[in-house]
Amino acid sequence: MILEEPLLCEQTVPGRQGYSLPEPGANLPPKEFLRQAAAKLPEVSEVDVVRHFVRLSQQNYSKDVGLFPLGSCTMKYNPKTTDAAAALTNFAQAHPMISEEEVQGNLELIYELQNYLAEIGGMDAVTCWPAAGSHGELTGMMMIRAFHASKGNPRKKVIIPDSAHGTNPASAAICRYEVVTVKSNQDGILNPADVKAVMDEETAALMITNPNTLGLFEKNIQEICEIVHKQGGLVYCDGANLNALLGIVQLGKEGVDVLHFNLHKTFSTPHGGGGPGAGPVGVKKKLEPFLPTPLIIKENGRFNLEMARPQSIGRMKAYFGNFGMLVRAYAYIRELGPAGLRRIAEMAVLNANYIRKGLEKTYHLPYPSPSLHECVFSDKLQKETGVKTLDIAKRLMDYGFHPPTIYFPLIVHGALMIEPTESEPKASLDQFIAAMKAIAKECEETPELVQTAPHKTFRGRLDEVKAARELKLRY
Ligand SMILES: *Cc1c(COP(=O)(O)O)cnc(C)c1O
Repeated sequence: MILEEPLLCEQTVPGRQGYSLPEPGANLPPKEFLRQAAAKLPEVSEVDVVRHFVRLSQQNYSKDVGLFPLGSCTMKYNPKTTDAAAALTNFAQAHPMISEEEVQGNLELIYELQNYLAEIGGMDAVTCWPAAGSHGELTGMMMIRAFHASKGNPRKKVIIPDSAHGTNPASAAICRYEVVTVKSNQDGILNPADVKAVMDEETAALMITNPNTLGLFEKNIQEICEIVHKQGGLVYCDGANLNALLGIVQLGKEGVDVLHFNLHKTFSTPHGGGGPGAGPVGVKKKLEPFLPTPLIIKENGRFNLEMARPQSIGRMKAYFGNFGMLVRAYAYIRELGPAGLRRIAEMAVLNANYIRKGLEKTYHLPYPSPSLHECVFSDKLQKETGVKTLDIAKRLMDYGFHPPTIYFPLIVHGALMIEPTESEPKASLDQFIAAMKAIAKECEETPELVQTAPHKTFRGRLDEVKAARELKLRY
């Protein structure tokens, strides 16, 4: 039963309290520090507060409720064992200002996680400080700029394929690079010849996503890396989709110089609602001097923080990054081991291809080659009934599913990008396929039912533009 939930301040009953504190007596702070007028806080009981937040939480959809097929986001189940590890007192309660001596174990954990990630990605060194994938991109591009600047010319341009995530050109632009877009070919991947045509000695780097946002492996990556390296450029790889490659491909060995990882995707730490994530970055030896500070150095079995790095790009995050995420990722890697990590990739690819096969006769597939961890359909077959991608996504909510990513990647008109991840059992994939088929049938028979969806959710169709443009964050 979901009812309209008023704000806490609307539930105020004058005089109602949710706390009981002893009389302050003589311990009151000096008068000048006391407020003159009472703060305008909601007057509610503990029960009111608990019910308010639990009711709100029930209006949310989460991975613990069901399939969350948001393509490129890798919304996989977060095992509770890794939460338990992060909740251990010495991890959860460690004060960020505590001395190195007292958190040797925590520093060791970060140090080891860096080594695991370096091995997984085929990189020489890793920093765990960035707080998101996009923050990792910024960190990586800053290191690339510092690398070129140290050679006397920071260069001017960065090459980015048209299938890239929007954060790629944004990160390059923040580092004052001009973005040169290259088109992917009819198979959805980059042609080495197209990179060669735009690569020159004023190009600082190529940013490539592998597997790319169409769920396809950029199989020419080695040749592309050679073309870029030949003119002194570096290759940045967006590794947000590494779930498909774990234990199978080490991108560093393909020639990549910088690689970011999304712990909140590949390594199953929670995606907060814009909250804590972690985007560690791996680099090759030549970029090590530019890594953000502090560095964790192991000397005679002790872990020390090193700040004196003259060429470093400096601090990218206060204290020790989103440490709770690092603990979860560490626990996840340790629990699974090399064979388990490889099985993640195998199952993620299997599940995506199961959905692809299940729906290929019902929805249009713009790129016919087999996909890795996700598959991209379009609304081409449904469009003549007047139904669009957005309507299909909204209608899925009536079937109890979170909609997939839509209208991305931009190169697919009306894209529906589905990433089931490895943590879905076959039964839920079958339910999802059945729902998508039922919706396709509705598009033919009762298109207005789809165009006005959702019908069964607490809220109907929201004005998303207004919601984004007119932020009202104060009561
Ligand atoms: C998710 C994603 C990013 C950005 O990661 P955030 O942690 O959301 O900042 C970048 N590139 C690709 C391909 C992604 O899927």
